[in-house]
Amino acid sequence: MRAPAGSLVRYDRLFVGGEWVAPLDGGLVESIDPATGLPWAEVGFGGPRDIDRAVAAAREAFEGPWRRMPGWERAALLRRLADLYREHAGEMAVLESRDSGRAIREARADLGAHHHWYQWFASLADKISGRTIPMDDTVHCFTTRVPVGVVGAITPWNAPMLTTTWKVAPALAAGCTVVLKPAEQTPVTALELARLIEKAGFPPGVFNVVPGYGRDAGARLVAHPGVDKIAFTGEGRTAKTILRNGADNLKRFSFELGGKAPHIIFADADVDQAVNAATSSAWAVCGQSCALGSRVLVERPIYDRVVAAFAERARKVRVGMPLDETTHMGPQAHAEQLDKTLSYIKIGRSEGAELIAGGGRLTDGPLANGYFVAPTVFANVANEMRIAREEIFGPVAALIPFSGEEEAVAIANDTTYGLTAGLWTRDVGRAHRVSARIQAGIVWVNTYRYIRWSTPYGGFKASGWGRENGLEALDNFLETRTTVVST
Ligand code: NAD
Repeated sequence: MRAPAGSLVRYDRLFVGGEWVAPLDGGLVESIDPATGLPWAEVGFGGPRDIDRAVAAAREAFEGPWRRMPGWERAALLRRLADLYREHAGEMAVLESRDSGRAIREARADLGAHHHWYQWFASLADKISGRTIPMDDTVHCFTTRVPVGVVGAITPWNAPMLTTTWKVAPALAAGCTVVLKPAEQTPVTALELARLIEKAGFPPGVFNVVPGYGRDAGARLVAHPGVDKIAFTGEGRTAKTILRNGADNLKRFSFELGGKAPHIIFADADVDQAVNAATSSAWAVCGQSCALGSRVLVERPIYDRVVAAFAERARKVRVGMPLDETTHMGPQAHAEQLDKTLSYIKIGRSEGAELIAGGGRLTDGPLANGYFVAPTVFANVANEMRIAREEIFGPVAALIPFSGEEEAVAIANDTTYGLTAGLWTRDVGRAHRVSARIQAGIVWVNTYRYIRWSTPYGGFKASGWGRENGLEALDNFLETRTTVVST
């Protein structure tokens, strides 16, 4: 179904070389509001020739004004961007909510914090330095850190601006230039970011946005010989394709991929707090976040209590229209994800897991045509089941019982992923013992999803390469040059 003609918001231009240009390839594509199943915006999608233009602009900016600009001037621009971002975060949150279906209160809280990333990385832009390496009297040796060059940033649809901010802030601070290809399902906020970057006064070509399909614009960006590095967030399968396609000029890659995080609750934990964190983490972003504790490991003495609490909380989640201030959880972000989540609920049932809450699509009243799924809880899940092994990316919690530390660690690590993990216990020794054995890039103890601009984030195993956030994030965008001088 189409919305009445003329009622769609139109974003028909790409941002390339500091100008708003019509796509050379591609054309207008409708962006669907997942709460209604109807288009709400029309977006200009670019293709290979648009990527070529954007890469050329990024290269020119890199070799020209951006490379010569001292760090403190880059920092000043980033600070200006931070201020503009803070000013416009509320409007951007509404757009992200429409594009991706995230509940507005959640989107506002998320985007309301992004300016901190720009500020924090601004504060590093003029402090990027190397070291001197002791040699002997006749030779001086030192290192300098130099920007990698032109970065292709490719982002997913689940948290479009967060995944963008995590790349753009450190890349620009490091002195790289960027061509951003947002996800085809959620392209709008990337274009709004371009407006802010333009307003902040960055030189033309430092930041470019080409919305488009992965197989088309994305593939060209990856294969382009003028791109030095790809910073990607998305699925592991896509990352493997990207690796193959970008191999010819041996680009640099950083990958933030999927997760199947263990959220471990020991019997000695503050159970109420643990349940608060575990339930809110199961259903945040409609279950569509790589960081969520989708496998809840519960020690047997408190298992029934936690199962009952989960079922009760699931029923209390207010699922509704994303722009309604009272809504806790909106729809799945697109029709394909809706089908995927529903198919995993079916799989869970057929595998013999016990469905104790939710279990299907919600279609009452205004939800009728949207992609809404009830918060769903499976109990008595075995870690061998597909619902415990594969990333569902929907509001589906799998509650797995365990006995003792050894079994908890074994189940936690029995996954191909290794992004995040949670651990609840009042025993300090156990907190250290167990967290040191978890194969994950970030382990939260007696808290969950505590993420700041300064805390490195990324995956072990199939969850990715490299780290975003923190000082480590700059490494993604820098090369080390060693200079050896014979005196
Ligand atoms: P996806 O891999 O399908 O798409 C991600 C991006 O890649 C999109 O912009 C898409 O257009 C592009 N793309 C697709 N094929 C491409 C190709 N051949 N060449 C270049 N680009 C291509 O992922 P998604 O479905 O949008 O996102 C969900 C996934 O992202 C989940 O697996 C989730 O766990 C992961 N994720 C990870 C993190 C993290 O920080 N680790 C954060 C958010 C999401």
